[in-house]
Amino acid sequence: MNECIFCKIVAGGIPAAKVHEDAQTLAFLDIRPLAEGHALVVPKRHARRIEDMTPADAAALMHTVQVTLGKLTRGLKAPAATVAVNDGAEAGQEVPHVHIHVVPRHVGDGAGPIHALNWPRPSTTPDAVSALAKRLASA
Ligand code: AMP
Repeated sequence: MNECIFCKIVAGGIPAAKVHEDAQTLAFLDIRPLAEGHALVVPKRHARRIEDMTPADAAALMHTVQVTLGKLTRGLKAPAATVAVNDGAEAGQEVPHVHIHVVPRHVGDGAGPIHALNWPRPSTTPDAVSALAKRLASA
């Protein structure tokens, strides 16, 4: 993936402010942070979407999220974090290489939960939820 910016960061061709690295993953600071310490955790092997990763890479990625959360807690005294993925262009993914945003959160930072995004919430019923779960389970 010669054109992928995060592959270039992984390969060392573009500089990044690294906070953690292991054989399968890399964590570095976002160049346009939503908050101080906003980190991105990426698999070294290119994958566009979460579904495209191997299970081993997905597990390693989540482990590095854990490690990164610990660094933000200790290093920035952040009591909480928002952990999020824009998975696919329709969800706002701009860089087509899987990355988990880890954004430190503090009391009174005003950002709100992910639920504060401007969702066009569907109306539903318990029966509809249960029918949908059955459909998805067999999909
Ligand atoms: P997304 O919209 O989920 O694809 O997020 C992409 C993120 O990558 C944005 O928050 C950008 O600020 C960040 N980003 C893009 N290029 C770089 C870079 N060279 N180094 C660090 N972060 C970057």
